[in-house]
Amino acid sequence: MEFDLNRLLRPHIATLKPYSSARDEYSGKEGIFLDANENPFGSITEEVFNRYPDPYQKDLKARIGQIKGIDPSRLFLGNGSDEAIDLLFRAFCRPGVDNVILLPPTYGMYEVSAGINDVATIKVPLTADFQLDVPAILAAFNPQSKILFICSPNNPSGNKLNRTDIRTLISSFEGLVVVDEAYIDFSDEPSFIGDLDHHPNLLVMQTFSKAWGLASLRLGMAYASAEIISILNKIKPPYNISGLTQAKVLAALQDLSSMHRMTADILDAREQLQSGLLKLPAVHKIHPSHANFLLVQINRPKEIYNELVRHKIIVRDRSKVTLCEGCLRITVGTPTENKQLLEVLSQITS
Ligand SMILES: *Cc1c(COP(=O)(O)O)cnc(C)c1O
Repeated sequence: MEFDLNRLLRPHIATLKPYSSARDEYSGKEGIFLDANENPFGSITEEVFNRYPDPYQKDLKARIGQIKGIDPSRLFLGNGSDEAIDLLFRAFCRPGVDNVILLPPTYGMYEVSAGINDVATIKVPLTADFQLDVPAILAAFNPQSKILFICSPNNPSGNKLNRTDIRTLISSFEGLVVVDEAYIDFSDEPSFIGDLDHHPNLLVMQTFSKAWGLASLRLGMAYASAEIISILNKIKPPYNISGLTQAKVLAALQDLSSMHRMTADILDAREQLQSGLLKLPAVHKIHPSHANFLLVQINRPKEIYNELVRHKIIVRDRSKVTLCEGCLRITVGTPTENKQLLEVLSQITS
């Protein structure tokens, strides 16, 4: 399959002249900076934030590139993965004309972002065991289909999707295939970053919001060809990653072992939670999870959800979502939190 990025790109983006920031013209670190209308005296906060941050996030990208084994020219950083999702719509999907393919049940932002950008969605549900329905997806593509969103491990089902099926779809689709790996750190599955060299139409997304424990800093990553990444960089708001975020994430990246320990603790806690839940007669089924949450099929999900809220325990009611009928999605908490959840559940379901 010949992939033609220029056919995919909206024509006005190809010719767009991007914003040029003050720091584009001079990139040295030393100097008297009278070019960006900043406050020269500093800031009233404890740490100093008076200067605009690096619009290219060079130091941060160099470090992430080193860890992930990829050249920084193939890495985009967004204000959460959600910014990358939105920019993909703006770059590739003509409002009212193009469409994207979604595979429910899946992450809600793909559809919301499509809606915001006035882009139609074609939905091809996963199979009953939450795998890709490859023939149905292939049949759904049309010339206006620009992006296929695949989430693996999938939210809200928690399972990983069959690798060969994903590869078949990447090779068969003329549009862009996004593989969203928000939960990859909880899985034994290797990342699709390793497939980028063979597939110019592949984009892999990861995030600091889950395993890294940095959801509040808002940092998402997108990996793709240098050509696709340069398009995202061209249309992003110039200072999309705050200086605070750049500094804090760079510091966090010094300590990979703590992150791995925390992830292992979450996986232990997930096993404990799962066996506790399975002892409750009200629980019918727990779907196999490669993520930090469990999709739990339970009696009277709506009432149990409400009872839990009354006990100030908040889970996600997914019982009305395609293929998730009767299910609550429960994020793995600390061992203490999980124990409290199990106690309350056993009270209210007995
Ligand atoms: C949580 C999540 C994200 C993360 O989004 P951020 O904007 O980076 O916080 C992305 N994709 C999926 C499927 C998620 O569940």
